[in-house]
Amino acid sequence: MTKVVIIGGGPGGYEAALVAAQLGADVTVVDRDGIGGACVLTDCVPSKTLIATSVRSTYIKDSPDLGINVGGATAEGGACSVGIDMRKVNDRVKRLARAQSEDTAARLVKEGVEIIPGEGRLVDPRIVAVGERRITADVVLVATGAHPRELRTAKPDGERVLTWRQLYDLEELPENLIVVGSGVTGAEFANAYQGLGSNVTLVSSRDRVMPTQDADAAEVLEGVFRRQGMTVLGNTRAESVVNTGDGVLVTLSDGRTVTGSHCLMTVGMIPNTDGLGLEEAGVRLDRGGFVQVDRVSRTSTPGVYAAGDCTGVNMLASVAGMQGRIAMWHALGEAVSPLKLSTVASTVFTHPELAAVGVSEEDVRSGRVDARIVNLPLDTNSRAKMNNSKDGFVKLICRQHTGIVLGGVIVGPRASELILGVSIAVQQRLTVDEIAHTFAVYPSLSGSVTEAARSLMQASPE
Ligand SMILES: Cc1cc2nc3c(=O)[nH]c(=O)nc-3n(C[C@H](O)[C@H](O)[C@H](O)COP(=O)(O)OP(=O)(O)OC[C@H]3O[C@@H](n4cnc5c(N)ncnc54)[C@H](O)[C@@H]3O)c2cc1C
Repeated sequence: MTKVVIIGGGPGGYEAALVAAQLGADVTVVDRDGIGGACVLTDCVPSKTLIATSVRSTYIKDSPDLGINVGGATAEGGACSVGIDMRKVNDRVKRLARAQSEDTAARLVKEGVEIIPGEGRLVDPRIVAVGERRITADVVLVATGAHPRELRTAKPDGERVLTWRQLYDLEELPENLIVVGSGVTGAEFANAYQGLGSNVTLVSSRDRVMPTQDADAAEVLEGVFRRQGMTVLGNTRAESVVNTGDGVLVTLSDGRTVTGSHCLMTVGMIPNTDGLGLEEAGVRLDRGGFVQVDRVSRTSTPGVYAAGDCTGVNMLASVAGMQGRIAMWHALGEAVSPLKLSTVASTVFTHPELAAVGVSEEDVRSGRVDARIVNLPLDTNSRAKMNNSKDGFVKLICRQHTGIVLGGVIVGPRASELILGVSIAVQQRLTVDEIAHTFAVYPSLSGSVTEAARSLMQASPE
């Protein structure tokens, strides 16, 4: 029986463990902080739970537009007030995360996986140490994740200068929240706290928010943020953040200062690869300390695989899980397709959401891909109008001559769910004609996907 030892119980680790157990291996997961990993306990699951409260609160605030007057709203247009009990919100977030972690651990145990709580490290490519204990392995998977990057001049203190992992201990809603970093994490939290009622200032080092996302989508979302009262400071960095006792003082690279009640730092991730014995075991790391892997999750040391955020490959829970599964299929001799990043679907959970898959408009504009693009604003969609959803679009990208769907971007409510149709098209290499001939419900937001496909159909040559 093949002995598999997995260091790290996040999606990279636990998804791998489930596959290895299913294939009959003897599987041990060593985990330091709780099964489910940072994904379940501090990052993805808590943030999306908080966002669920924020979105609900935004809908309530918008309800006078639909003729519903809630607590304080008047027919004359007086705004309705929504009260947020931050302690209750955060209790729910933490309870839900813990329950999800326990469910995942129970599932592993049910499948026969042994869980060893503790910190693991390689003593050689076939031996993992946990304290005094030595576990021998035929196959090792490193799935240790990553942690928030900190700036020397803006040290999080857990009280007013915070990482996203410290937010859920707040007992009150931050009155004036400064979010440093306008990547996906910064944008999600800035928008979430704005929805909950904080005054938010977002500090972006670039000229627009979410520089790695589709430019049109980022523009729509920045417009929504500003319209709802967020201050977005572009082209500047936080040089330092100081807790002044009753607030925070943020000094920007252009000399300006901003004051607030709290500051959330979202300035990147550092892989958890220090002190793991990786380099001593011959595992190559890149300059940032990320484990270098190929598309079947192999490291430079035979028998040692790696998955998830510690590899720096498209740092998403879904990708971590896929890398972990691929590693086990490969290690245990199953047929396996290498990881294909061009089919990864992702979402920014702002309100509205931004979901994307496949080739980007930037790939087309730069000439890397020969394709046609259509961008259909959501305000032409009857369901969007009924729902009072004013912001968003469906963008579809297909190969120039064949019409094969290569990618898409959706900005709109529940874009995270709507993108599946486009993902299936990209994965299965469907053409725009095939999508155009698919029934969408009327009225529905998905109707905009089929309509976008229709507008990309070309008349057949005479
Ligand atoms: C705020 C935020 C929101 C996010 N939202 C989403 C989202 O909506 N969708 C999405 O797909 N992705 C999201 N992500 C990304 C997602 O959380 C990560 O990609 C995912 O957690 C990576 O999984 P992983 O298994 O590599 O690592 P992790 O989830 O970090 O798990 C690693 C585990 O390894 C353990 N560990 C570390 N070192 C050791 C050691 N030496 N010994 C034993 N155990 C060890 C850790 O304690 C941890 O339990 C979000 C990230 C952030 C920061």
